[in-house]
Amino acid sequence: MTSRLDPYEEAKKQLQVTVSILGLSKEVYEMLATPERIVQVKVPVMMRDGSIKVFIGWRVQHNSALGPYKGGVRYSPETNLSEVMALATWMTWKNSLAGLPYGGAKGGIQVDPFQLNQFELMQLSKNYFSAIAPFVGVDLDIPAPDVNTNPQTMAWYIDAYQMKMGSKELGVVTGKPLELGGLETRIYSTGLGVASVTQAAAKKLWGGIEGKTVAVQGFGNVGFYTAKFLKEMGAKIVAISDIKGGIYSSRGLDPEAVKEYITKKGSGFVIDYPDVERRITNEELLTTDVDILVPAAVENVITAENAPKVKAKLIVEGANGPTAPEAEQVLVKRQVVIVPDILANSGGVVMSHIEWVNNRMGGWITEEEAKNKLMQKMADNFNAVWNFWENKLGGMGGAYSMRSAAQAIAVDKVVRAMKLRGWI
Ligand code: GLU
Repeated sequence: MTSRLDPYEEAKKQLQVTVSILGLSKEVYEMLATPERIVQVKVPVMMRDGSIKVFIGWRVQHNSALGPYKGGVRYSPETNLSEVMALATWMTWKNSLAGLPYGGAKGGIQVDPFQLNQFELMQLSKNYFSAIAPFVGVDLDIPAPDVNTNPQTMAWYIDAYQMKMGSKELGVVTGKPLELGGLETRIYSTGLGVASVTQAAAKKLWGGIEGKTVAVQGFGNVGFYTAKFLKEMGAKIVAISDIKGGIYSSRGLDPEAVKEYITKKGSGFVIDYPDVERRITNEELLTTDVDILVPAAVENVITAENAPKVKAKLIVEGANGPTAPEAEQVLVKRQVVIVPDILANSGGVVMSHIEWVNNRMGGWITEEEAKNKLMQKMADNFNAVWNFWENKLGGMGGAYSMRSAAQAIAVDKVVRAMKLRGWI
């Protein structure tokens, strides 16, 4: 599952479409495409054999017109500056679309975290966060988990920040463990959000989600919880995969049983799950005969080559940037509905905002309240995008994807804030 297209080029191509829909100038495009600040840091780790390894990390702050920067940090051997720039750009649109008072940012370290033990990971995390500490803060830039980072990573970040800056502020990162001001709901909020918009889209397309077949690519936090909630909503999960490959069963799979097996008995990979009809590759999963496809792994997996073979009528982007722009054109012509990443996977950052507000108020919110707020917001945001798409851009059968509608709403708001500030 390696990226075939430069993600920042992908983000810029999407922005060009939005700029033409909104009738904005070339100057405004340049203002929107260029990140405000790029921080690159050295992250040394003393390895278990006493040697020192140097990793490179980034924090890209794309746009702050709407408020402090906000976005996750990922650890991956494939992460590079271009990817982090694209992801930071998408965070600006995601936060704007979700109606949050945040700009967009993203961080990353080029590292294979599975090669490090806990002590090495702790050093990596603390050294990275100390290095970027002067550039982040509760009102400045608020990091959170992303691919291969989790509440434990956020706990190390908080500690490094407090040691370095002499602060006791908890709201400087979100997605924290409960003991450090996190919320129970944050761990499953992205998946719940993806499932909620899938349900809303299925209602528009077929009148409901019950019995609809689903293939989910990626079985990390987003993929797993999406599959779990979709099953609870009545959909049938027939295919699941992770980095090593996937499994298929026409009778339906139980995501919780698969998770339990692979973490307790198997090697940690989906492919080992015994009770299946057949094993499939990631490429096969994308073109499996299903109603709904949820790419919840990495960028650019749906390409111009495999897009004509995709059989799903509905694609819901759990991952950021899984559909290449050329693939999207093919799918739009075939009237496949794509619920775009900046809408579909915004549940994580919406919950991050609830956590941040909660930390700053020194208050508490119940799991039920937080969950209801999230589901309500996802439904409202889905409807806003769907209505704009249908009423202004021709909807299904028209020339534009749902992404164009989502981006138009998001970019328009950022542009208005930039105008008010006198930036453009
Ligand atoms: N990493 C998540 C995303 O891409 C969450 C970001 C956040 O909570 O700040 O949306």
